[in-house]
Amino acid sequence: MPIRVPLEVHAITIVVVEERIEERQIRVGPNTVPRRERVTARREFPPRQDRATFESALRYANAVFAPADIRFHLSSFTPATEEIPNGTEQVDFNGFQYLAGRHPPRSGLSVLLVADFERADLGGQAVESQSTCIVCALGDPGTGKVLAHELGHLLALPHVETGSPRANWNLMYPALRAGDELTAQQISLAQGSRAARRFNAP
Ligand SMILES: [Zn+2]
Repeated sequence: MPIRVPLEVHAITIVVVEERIEERQIRVGPNTVPRRERVTARREFPPRQDRATFESALRYANAVFAPADIRFHLSSFTPATEEIPNGTEQVDFNGFQYLAGRHPPRSGLSVLLVADFERADLGGQAVESQSTCIVCALGDPGTGKVLAHELGHLLALPHVETGSPRANWNLMYPALRAGDELTAQQISLAQGSRAARRFNAP
């Protein structure tokens, strides 16, 4: 029996509201005079994944974790619209923490999908103690590779040492990697992780 881990996915559209002052020329009697007006502009940045592309990323991640007999499944996929306090369209770590607080995990791991996250080198970030990760990377299989790596963190896997043997073929290499390998030690760590045990109580 595989270890089953539910994912609660939130597809988050980031809203940026900008206020600026515009000067307009208006006619007052025979004259034209400048007048300053407050203008509000609202821009929306939808996530780069929908349910279908996320499911394809999830198939990729499940193939990566098949040697560990761990299987993630989509328990919910919910669209949301959020304005990050003092934010721009690029979500930073504080924005991630704000969104994590808004969409806490209920009975699974929480996956936040956004258009742009500042950790563009890896395309995501995970906080194991919050059972929450954020993913922004483009396209398949890119999204699947980022998702698998971040889910690895949520299964308590740290980064591999960059100088260790086959490091850049390992799922937990902290940069672009050539493969998605898991060592026997990583497999037993993932299988014994809080997330793996929590949803598979006998
Ligand atoms: Zn990482």
